[in-house]
Amino acid sequence: MPLIPSSVETCLAGSLCMSELMSILLLSGVVLLVISLTMVRKLRKELPQGANRSRWYLLGGMILLFFFGYVGFFILKYRVRYSAPEMLVAVIMFFGAVFVLLVCLLAYRTTQELKRIYVLEQETITDPLLGIFNRRCLDRRMQEEVLRAQRYRLELAVLMVDIDNFKQVNDTWGHQVGDLVLQHLTEILVVALRQTDVLARFGGEEFVILLPHTSEVEANKLAERLRTAVEHTPLHRIPELRVTVSIGSACLLPDGDTAYSLLERADKAMYCAKREGRNRVVRYPDHDRAGNGGNNI
Ligand code: GH3
Ligand code: MG
Ligand code: MG
Repeated sequence: MPLIPSSVETCLAGSLCMSELMSILLLSGVVLLVISLTMVRKLRKELPQGANRSRWYLLGGMILLFFFGYVGFFILKYRVRYSAPEMLVAVIMFFGAVFVLLVCLLAYRTTQELKRIYVLEQETITDPLLGIFNRRCLDRRMQEEVLRAQRYRLELAVLMVDIDNFKQVNDTWGHQVGDLVLQHLTEILVVALRQTDVLARFGGEEFVILLPHTSEVEANKLAERLRTAVEHTPLHRIPELRVTVSIGSACLLPDGDTAYSLLERADKAMYCAKREGRNRVVRYPDHDRAGNGGNNI
């Protein structure tokens, strides 16, 4: 006669089998937590320095705590039969780890997606050669600034900047040097402008500078400063090559003005500066005197 009845034997074997299954679940949970931790690490690298990044450190720390909890529980129950409530705990721990991994994975994927959208957005508004705003962005910003200035009765000025005899630079020095000149001019303009000013490449060798909260007098002073800076700053790589710019300035009229007409006036003033001999600043109200002497600022 057997010492242990066969029904008890089957029951014991079944219970041991369940215990092994629980151990596997726990170990799987540990692996999932490790993957979650690497996910958090990757995600943290994508984020800029700041509070949000620190919060991910906190989450990483918590996952690490759970990790030790899982390992501890696993060691505690190693080769020991699980009671029914302990089995429930192991199952909950496994699904908890699945949950944590899903959240980390989703957060990482979302960050990647947002980053991709941001890069695409930047590309659509940036000039690839000069890294400043392009015409598309300028049009939008001008509409916004004109509406804001009209709504709150603020001053708004525009400068149209055009490199003098640029075709000659290209013809003499080559197209690549022409590109260097464009980059050189961009650097000068960026350094001289305020954060709130908007600098955009209008096309070719023409730039537009939008100056919110700027009076006509201030705009003309700035334009003159820019003109002088360009005239006296040699190109880093080719010091003997100097370029000059002609600048037209115009201000928003108090009533009935539009972004289009404001830009048109700055353009007319700039062409007046060209007619007057280049390397000068002309403000819009003086543009029509070009034929009889013009008005240099
Ligand atoms: P002005 O003083 O009257 O403005 O004469 P300009 O020669 O500067 O003007 P024009 O309109 O005759 O020539 C502009 C030149 O700018 C022609 C074009 O090849 C050149 N250009 C436009 N875009 C680029 C660019 O991205 N890189 C280079 N290197 N040249 C460009
Ligand atoms: Mg030109
Ligand atoms: Mg031009």
